[in-house]
Amino acid sequence: MKKILPLLLLIVGSVMAQPARPLVVAHRGASGYLPEHTLPAKALAYGLGADFLEQDLVLTKDDVPVVLHDIYLDTVTDIAARFPEKKRADGRFYALDLTLAELKQLRVSERFNAKTGKPVLAQRFPAGKSEFHISTLEEELQFIQGLNHSSGRNVGIYPEIKQPKWHREQGHDISKIVLPILARYGYATKADACFLQCFELTEVKRIRGELGWKGRIVMLLNGKGKELDGVDHDALCTAAGLKELAQVVDGIGPAIGRIVTWTTAGEQKVTTLVKDAHAAGLVVHPYTIRRDDLPKNCPSSDALHAALFRDAGADGVFSDFTDVTLAWLKK
Ligand code: CA
Repeated sequence: MKKILPLLLLIVGSVMAQPARPLVVAHRGASGYLPEHTLPAKALAYGLGADFLEQDLVLTKDDVPVVLHDIYLDTVTDIAARFPEKKRADGRFYALDLTLAELKQLRVSERFNAKTGKPVLAQRFPAGKSEFHISTLEEELQFIQGLNHSSGRNVGIYPEIKQPKWHREQGHDISKIVLPILARYGYATKADACFLQCFELTEVKRIRGELGWKGRIVMLLNGKGKELDGVDHDALCTAAGLKELAQVVDGIGPAIGRIVTWTTAGEQKVTTLVKDAHAAGLVVHPYTIRRDDLPKNCPSSDALHAALFRDAGADGVFSDFTDVTLAWLKK
């Protein structure tokens, strides 16, 4: 019994840290309700009961990782009005061209079309209302850990290294800067409440090898074809490709369309991707559930949840609507 007790406590502890049901990852926070990746969006997702909160990471000119979905600033901030001189020849504004001090002067709003100024999803938080700002990775980690302290919960983080190849071509090594910060905040092993994620296999291998990351890592898989580093994601989604991936990563984060599609007649078609990934020992966390932007021909949010969890057997999901996804899972 003396030997068994610590083991039992360990098992109970690990079960408590992760629920038996599939995981809900708050995609850019509660982005269905508040401007993505702002601290209020993270606070709401936390309060709605998310298991993990996502951080997309890009660098500033002075090499500070900030939480932002794109390397661009022109679709979620007022950069074009505030720093018009920062526009590059391609007409875009890049986070990498601003210092943190400059970036902090920007106001964040709901995602919009930079050409027309119209919101991407009309039902979401109105443009130009209230005031939101960009946070650094460290500010967000302190925010989440502060909430974990005051609530007694252990909500995890799900950071994504954005466009590492592009960052390095611009002379900035984003992974090399982010990993030590994660370690400093207690995210370093597979037992920690953290999944690192990236679309570029070349970088994922480097993170595991050269950079020595010992925590969990999820390989993101695009909807179709070649990724920015030239790797073919169709090949990674075969049974053989998944077996190879399992040598490096703990799970995959595929586009929903790689798991389930619907015909124009409304017939649901589930692929073998989740089954094949499970056979290779990988967890599967597809992206993204948006009740206001469902996959083509998908009849309803309920149908989407049922397809992913009941029919395909996904282990978790990225959702813009933590509450909607949790409500379905609890039902
Ligand atoms: Ca992401």
